[in-house]
Amino acid sequence: MEEERIISARRQAEDDPGIEVGLRPRTLQEYVGQEKIKEKLAIYIRAALDRNESLDHVLLYGPPGLGKTTLAHIIANELGVSIRVTAGPAIERPGDLAAILTNLGHGDVLFIDEIHRLNRSVEEILYPAMEDNALDIIIGKGPGARSLRLDLPPFTMIGATVRAGLLTSPLRDRFGVVDRLEFYTPSELEQIITRSANILNVKIEKAGAAIIACASRGTPRVANRLLKRVRDYAQVKADNIITGVVAEEALNMLQLDNKGLDEIDRRLLTALIEKFEGGPVGLDTLAACISEEPETLEDVYEPYLMQLGLLKRTARGRMVTGEVYAYLNIKPKDGPQQKLW
Ligand code: ADP
Repeated sequence: MEEERIISARRQAEDDPGIEVGLRPRTLQEYVGQEKIKEKLAIYIRAALDRNESLDHVLLYGPPGLGKTTLAHIIANELGVSIRVTAGPAIERPGDLAAILTNLGHGDVLFIDEIHRLNRSVEEILYPAMEDNALDIIIGKGPGARSLRLDLPPFTMIGATVRAGLLTSPLRDRFGVVDRLEFYTPSELEQIITRSANILNVKIEKAGAAIIACASRGTPRVANRLLKRVRDYAQVKADNIITGVVAEEALNMLQLDNKGLDEIDRRLLTALIEKFEGGPVGLDTLAACISEEPETLEDVYEPYLMQLGLLKRTARGRMVTGEVYAYLNIKPKDGPQQKLW
């Protein structure tokens, strides 16, 4: 794979966890956007608190960087319980999960990121845990093996994944609340950028925040990362203030256009037009054109290009839309050659 892209929504090494944590909103009120999800969660949390019960299990899905982990921390905070954070690939054996579950306190939140990557034997431990607050342990081997059922304290499981369809249906069915996070609007991102600039002690003008917002691909993680890069530029090349002009110059230096598309996005769209006559072309072929993993293309980059209306998925493969020609300033080829005789 190539060097990590500045507009990648995935967590990168440079996203210093200390800074990410500092920028993370801690209450539903501080959490910008995703209004429908917030409204529902506020009600469920209130109801669970009033009944003195644990909150139902929650599945959050959507492209990386949209705030699933943040929301999980907020839910635990609003419930006044502790949160235990782990990820699908980190839980290798059923015993690892059993150890996590037995260490949870009453009503705690267990957050599992990339929950679709749990292996099957681990996943099976989760079913009775989520449904009956029980842990089934097999003792011994062969014909003498016995199953022992241990009670677990009530807990709330929060799972995060890029697509709900990646989960097996028995796992998906055990979540009472299933919500999809949407891309953020430029004005929501502008609020996030202004808030982060305040926390980072960076001076920013409204025009500067608006320009960074438009290039952030609807994604708070990208917005915060771009803000940090533009801050560096402002510090070295300008008067330490992010004005509209400074933001534009900095993004230009990063080779991002005003919609946050980079060189690789443009290469992908151009290849679709020039090599494949606009498509349809299969995911694997397209991924090979830009040296990316097909899954990364599908889950991380394509959703934003589709949101912009530049790309569409069809049963036969990926195609560009009519908008792309204007966007890339390429003249569409004439339709099928007309027969003159
Ligand atoms: P995900 O788990 O979906 O990959 P995260 O929850 O880790 O995304 O969010 C990435 C960063 O974006 C966080 O550090 C946080 O600062 C910021 N962020 C995400 N959602 C919001 C939001 N709604 N309001 C403000 N900042 C947000």
